[in-house]
Amino acid sequence: MIKKILDKGFIEVVDKMGTDLTVANSARVSFGKRKEKFDDNDRKLIKFLAKNKHWSPFRHLMVQFHIKAPEFVMRQWYKHVVGIETTSNSAVKDHAWNEISGRYVPVSDFYVPENWRKQSLDNKQASEGSIADQKKAGEIFNHAMENFLNAYKELLDLGVAKEQARMILPLNQYTEVYWTASFQAIMNFIDLRDEDTAQWEIRQYAVAIKEIMLEIYPETTGIWFEVKT
Ligand SMILES: Cc1cc2nc3c(=O)[nH]c(=O)nc-3n(C[C@H](O)[C@H](O)[C@H](O)COP(=O)(O)OP(=O)(O)OC[C@H]3O[C@@H](n4cnc5c(N)ncnc54)[C@H](O)[C@@H]3O)c2cc1C
Repeated sequence: MIKKILDKGFIEVVDKMGTDLTVANSARVSFGKRKEKFDDNDRKLIKFLAKNKHWSPFRHLMVQFHIKAPEFVMRQWYKHVVGIETTSNSAVKDHAWNEISGRYVPVSDFYVPENWRKQSLDNKQASEGSIADQKKAGEIFNHAMENFLNAYKELLDLGVAKEQARMILPLNQYTEVYWTASFQAIMNFIDLRDEDTAQWEIRQYAVAIKEIMLEIYPETTGIWFEVKT
C-alpha cells in the first residue's frame, strides 16, 4: 500500500502486526480468554478501552512505514520519539528510525512547492493563503536551487566527500526513512499533525496515514476517532 505525497514523496506500509481483534484479545487476556473472530462485543470492548484511556492494548498493533519526505518535514516528524512503546523511561531507547544516508547516496530529489503561502499574522509559526507574486517567489527559489545544486555537483566533481558536500544543500532535500510505531504513537502523530496549526506539508502525510490506518485497522481506527471527536 503506497500513497504519493507532495511532488516526489510517498508513504508506504512495509509491514504490519496485528488486526482489530489483537486489541480486544490483548485486553481480554485479563480474563484468560481469547477470541478468533471479531464481533460486536469486540467493538464495545475497544470503545471502552479508548474511552477510559486503557491504551496499552493499542500498542500491540505495529506498523512499519517507508517514508519519503522533505528534510524539513522529517525534522518535525523526528520529534515523535515514541516508536515502539510509551512505557520506557528513556525516550531515546524507543526510537525506531532508520534513514537513507547522504554520506553514501548523493542527494538527488528536492521539494518544489506549488503554492507560496503568506506568513500568518495571528500565528507566528504558521502560514495562510497565497502571496500575490507567485512568479517572483518561484524565480527566487529556482535561482537559489540552481546555485545550490551547481555548487554541490562541483564539490563532488572536485572529489569532496559526499558527507561534506551535502552541507550546502537546503532543507527541501528529500530523505527516506523507515519508521516503526505502535497504533497509539501513530494516532498521537495524526492528532498533532493533522490539525490547523501543523505545517501544510506534514499535514499531507498525516492525512495519508489516517487513510492507511482506516484501511488496515478499520474497526480500531474508526472507534478511536469516534471516541476522540
Ligand atoms: C504545531 C506544532 C508545533 C511545534 N513546534 C515545535 C517547536 O517550535 N519546537 C520544538 O522543539 N518542537 C515543536 N513541536 C514538537 C512537539 O513539541 C512534540 O515534540 C512533537 O509534537 C511530538 O509529540 P509527542 O511528544 O506527543 O510525541 P511522541 O514522542 O510520539 O510521544 C507520544 C506520547 O508518549 C508520551 N511520552 C513521550 N516520551 C515520553 C517519555 N520519555 N516518558 C513518558 N512518556 C512519554 C507522551 O504522552 C507523548 O504525548 C511542535 C509540534 C506541533 C504539533
